[in-house]
Amino acid sequence: MGLGSDMYRQQILDHYKNPRNYGELEDPTFTHIGENPMCGDEIRMDVELADDEETIERVAFQGDGCAISQASASMLSGKLAGKTLEELQEMDRDDVIDMLGVDISPMRVKCAVLAEKVAQDGAEIYRGELDVDKTTTED
Ligand code: ZN
Repeated sequence: MGLGSDMYRQQILDHYKNPRNYGELEDPTFTHIGENPMCGDEIRMDVELADDEETIERVAFQGDGCAISQASASMLSGKLAGKTLEELQEMDRDDVIDMLGVDISPMRVKCAVLAEKVAQDGAEIYRGELDVDKTTTED
């Protein structure tokens, strides 16, 4: 383990213990929930769009679960502000793993990508392109 990896590990713990953008938005454009039943992680995301209905203005989340899932949601909530829904949809699991900065075992990948998947599905539901009540990492 190099120093770089320790730094990222610290960062994950810090986001887990002091999650950023934690809570609810007063007037979200859309809200979506998801879970990773393999681990018991749950995430709820509130997203508020700017007047152009495309640019993400702010994101808040609430959740419960392991450090990876919650730190990922905390980091993502900050990263998404200023992005467009198009840019959100273009994100993939590698973006999340890069953001976390540590090696993620195949078992934990679902923990890592849960928040991203909740945000992406929420955006698709908002656009009428998807019809689910809840995202799960099973599919
Ligand atoms: Zn987990």
